[in-house]
Amino acid sequence: MPDTPSRDPRIHHDPLAARTVVVAPRRADRPSDLDAGCMSAGPCPFCVGHESQTPPDVLRTPHDGAMPWQARIIPNRYPVVESCPQGSGDLFPRCSRPAHGIHEVVIESAAHYRSILEVDAVAWRDVWKLIHRRLAMLDGVEGIAWATVFKNSGPEAGASLEHLHSQLVGLDFVPPVMEAELAAASQPGHSFATMIEQAEASGCLVAEAGDVVALIPPAPRQPFETWILPRLPEPLFSAASPERVAAVADLTRHVVARLGAAVPGADYNWWLHQAPYGERGAAASRWHWHLEILPRLAAFAGFELGTGCHITTLSPEESARGLAS
Ligand SMILES: [Zn+2]
Ligand SMILES: [Zn+2]
Repeated sequence: MPDTPSRDPRIHHDPLAARTVVVAPRRADRPSDLDAGCMSAGPCPFCVGHESQTPPDVLRTPHDGAMPWQARIIPNRYPVVESCPQGSGDLFPRCSRPAHGIHEVVIESAAHYRSILEVDAVAWRDVWKLIHRRLAMLDGVEGIAWATVFKNSGPEAGASLEHLHSQLVGLDFVPPVMEAELAAASQPGHSFATMIEQAEASGCLVAEAGDVVALIPPAPRQPFETWILPRLPEPLFSAASPERVAAVADLTRHVVARLGAAVPGADYNWWLHQAPYGERGAAASRWHWHLEILPRLAAFAGFELGTGCHITTLSPEESARGLAS
């Protein structure tokens, strides 16, 4: 046994609990300006002019290097997965392995904005174009089986820095939630087309832009949970047309604005579910990528953690009425 356990991230899998955990000790070192509910004394590393405090960007917009930049994607200094994982500190060789992948930060504004609604609509479309471009670049990268972008907006949603940002993660495996969703969609009678039809019939379609819709799913985990997805099958968001990418940008602004009107100051998470890259994605040709937007209005407690079931106080129809303009 080594004298000092490795601080490199490792993936631990418990087959009896059917649970996968990334043990990432260095994440405990990451800075926070939200702990005290106010900015810390130091300058914000994500603000324009402070680029030297972050690693060089992987991508930025505008692409020609013109200043000031509007959005940047940079490697995360405190990654949950690493592109060159170290194999040391193998304390539990039967159930853990180095955590391989990429973990990046999408800095979504040069100014110190806190809400996506502070970014104008055109610039916000550019942010989604940048995310789309990065996800498309990861298709075919050796060792990346699946990738996502996710946002933690506000302390209740797990954010540690208030400057507007999201995170982009590429993994060398397909995570359990995605495996479960893909398996469920392969069952007879289960389809996103039916979900959209039923949402329309029950008044749960919240908004649409082109052929992309925003709807309350049939079993929302929190009031106002909303999904954004195309009407027609498309397994990979990274392959979506420019029109659909722009529609996602517009619909996220719409939903966040409506959520803020219904529950001022509500924190939320969102994450993208797209199919795995490569042959598995091709096999899921009838599947629809989707963005799940989850307000964090109540804590997940013993019932949720112990059963995997959720309790919410608002039906899907009431949630849709609450988000109506
Ligand atoms: Zn800032
Ligand atoms: Zn999903």
